[in-house]
Amino acid sequence: MKVIVVGINHAGTSAIRTLLTQNPELKVTAYDRNTNISFLGCGIALAVGGMVKNMQDLFYCDQIRLEDMGAEVHMEHDVTSIDYRNKTVTVVDLKTGAAKQDSYDKLIYAAGSWPMDIPGIPEKNAHLENVMLCKLYQHAAELVKKADEPEIRSVAVIGAGYIGIELAEAYRQKGKKVTLIDFENRVTARYYDPEFTDRLEEDIRASGVTLALGERVVDFRGEGGRVAAVVTDKGEYPADLVVKAIGFKPNTELLPDAEKVSNGAIKVNGRMETSLPDIYAIGDAAAMYHAALRQPMQVALATNAVKSGLAAACAVNGVAGVQIESVAGTNALCVFGNNLASTGLCETVAKAMGMDVGSSFIEDADRPEFMQDYGVTWIKLVYEKSTLRLVGAQIGSRGEVNHTEVIYFLALAIQKSMGLLDIAFTDVYFLPHFNKPFNFILTAILKVVGLDYEAVKKRV
Ligand SMILES: Cc1cc2nc3c(=O)[nH]c(=O)nc-3n(C[C@H](O)[C@H](O)[C@H](O)COP(=O)(O)OP(=O)(O)OC[C@H]3O[C@@H](n4cnc5c(N)ncnc54)[C@H](O)[C@@H]3O)c2cc1C
Repeated sequence: MKVIVVGINHAGTSAIRTLLTQNPELKVTAYDRNTNISFLGCGIALAVGGMVKNMQDLFYCDQIRLEDMGAEVHMEHDVTSIDYRNKTVTVVDLKTGAAKQDSYDKLIYAAGSWPMDIPGIPEKNAHLENVMLCKLYQHAAELVKKADEPEIRSVAVIGAGYIGIELAEAYRQKGKKVTLIDFENRVTARYYDPEFTDRLEEDIRASGVTLALGERVVDFRGEGGRVAAVVTDKGEYPADLVVKAIGFKPNTELLPDAEKVSNGAIKVNGRMETSLPDIYAIGDAAAMYHAALRQPMQVALATNAVKSGLAAACAVNGVAGVQIESVAGTNALCVFGNNLASTGLCETVAKAMGMDVGSSFIEDADRPEFMQDYGVTWIKLVYEKSTLRLVGAQIGSRGEVNHTEVIYFLALAIQKSMGLLDIAFTDVYFLPHFNKPFNFILTAILKVVGLDYEAVKKRV
């Protein structure tokens, strides 16, 4: 059997390594248009800020390692079409321009995603020097270099999602004047509710970063071919460097007949099978079943990329019992002194999607107050009103206090469709060094069912 893998970054690498570890005799041919494999984008802001000194440390695999496992790897090869009826692909060698056809028995589609462009920018200003993207190693190398250039005094980051905020912090650490712009009224509005973003915005502003929220970028102003300012519908911000980080679009044009969700990601089942015969989609190109929403949705994260690669490879190799029932969109953020994690849907997003949800937010000491020091943690649970099914959770704290890992257990609860009372009676430990007998998760749940002991104490 011959397997073709299209795209060799996190999802493709995971698939290839699993395919050949399980079945060294398998014929695997892989194509990627880029020059490198397995670059960890999560390290870009860390390298800009100076925490990561050597960007080569952000790779965990390469062409030689995959070839040593038995794969035939073609870098700088662009797959330009896929004929799923005849099971062939057309590939162009980007160094020579030569095109060829290749055939497969099974195809794993791991072409990932690409940063979205800002709509409506006049063509004459759309390609000014120093207007950059943040995705590849090549982008990272430039972004890191610019951080040390004294002539780059001001930086505008467009998009206040997790990538934009991390970059804003990193350039601020490098002493730049930073503006973070987003058309939403809050930062990270898709993952966190105001109880979390209000605090984060306070800390972002305190660091000296200018927040331009509720503003839509309409143009760039250039001087001598270089960007000099970002123009929004409400103002203009000086910028010697602009980073566009407004989100990612799945690269799925090569499979126009595959069933897709509204943003273009390809619908897959738990084995990563698409609606097309013998074609599997993985990583950012795929939309898996979202446990909170109860429908397929793309969650573009490395965690899902590597796991979906593993599941597709197991399916191709006929390994039974490995499938991904669902995803929950679990993510974390460590910026401006805030330690945040969320899973499922936040209340604002769940309501915008028409779900009838309630929520419980508390702020509490993480350990008994009789301990000499304890930290403050805030947690929010979002649940379906009719069933008390958990559909989202957010947790936050500042500084040395970090409880983000409890989100693992809440993600599992969402994926297993657990109700708040099931979660309340999970048999977790209590030890004063670590938590309270009525820990913050239990307390937040009890509030939903009318057992707010603190409120009663206040009444008395
Ligand atoms: C700055 C940044 C920070 C991030 N931080 C985190 C984080 O902290 N945690 C987390 O979980 N996720 C994070 N992510 C998301 C994560 O990197 C992506 O979810 C992940 O890269 C998806 O992997 P993928 O292999 O599906 O797709 P991609 O990484 O997009 O790779 C797709 C590959 O396919 C190739 N390709 C595409 N089309 C073709 C074609 N037609 N022919 C040949 N080759 C093709 C591309 O060259 C590319 O190598 C971050 C992403 C970025 C950009």
